[in-house]
Amino acid sequence: MAELRVCALYPDVMNIYADRGNLLMLERRCAWRAIGFSLTPAGLGDEIDPDAHDLFYLGGGQDRDQRLCALDLVETKRDSLHAAARRGAVVLGVCGGYQLLGHHYALGSEEIPGLGLVDLHTVRSDGPRLIGDVAIEVRLDDDPAGPRRVLAGFENHGGRTHLGAGERPLGRVLKGHGNSGSSGAEGAEGVRRDGVIGTYLHGPLLPKNAWFADWLICRATGIDELEPLDDALEDAAHAEARRAAGC
Ligand code: GLN
Repeated sequence: MAELRVCALYPDVMNIYADRGNLLMLERRCAWRAIGFSLTPAGLGDEIDPDAHDLFYLGGGQDRDQRLCALDLVETKRDSLHAAARRGAVVLGVCGGYQLLGHHYALGSEEIPGLGLVDLHTVRSDGPRLIGDVAIEVRLDDDPAGPRRVLAGFENHGGRTHLGAGERPLGRVLKGHGNSGSSGAEGAEGVRRDGVIGTYLHGPLLPKNAWFADWLICRATGIDELEPLDDALEDAAHAEARRAAGC
């Protein structure tokens, strides 16, 4: 039987804005299709097996919680996460978790280390927090002529994220601030390098974007096509989130 094996990194600490809801969404959508599901928490000090999980999830966090986890991530989990990403596992970071996928998060004169899975860094700005409903346009099938989809969510971050020259954003901002807030409409949001995905969208990401939860399940398990579900409620929530974001 097909199975999605999820490893939740620091589920008690990196867990704001419905990160649990994201995990529950994956669990439910697998269960409704009789796809197996397992959830393994990995907290401070826990080693992880890169081959034992198909999707690693790192949620949002306050600066002080990020500081706590970042040192542990680098010391006990970095090599395993790099190995997992190399073999094609999905690594999904949301907001604070997204920031920790990069090289570092600069808080004044302090630099919180990141995993270095993608070429980006984040700087905590003295400017206003970037808060509000957000919608981005994404193309996930790597075909430039392929269909575009919209991810809707909510963002709330003080950090501004800057991608390296060779790195691709996850999507294009339709409404909201995105990575740095300075590029306005047409700006970059998130990052995507193969299975490594980071985004500022939460509030919560997956229940608001059921299609994206399914895309992640396919990508992580290798299943080509999933049995359709009755997504009337999810579609209504998506439409409402898009409406809130004004697009
Ligand atoms: N602490 C980070 C910031 O403010 C991330 C916040 C979050 O995860 N919502 O930029």
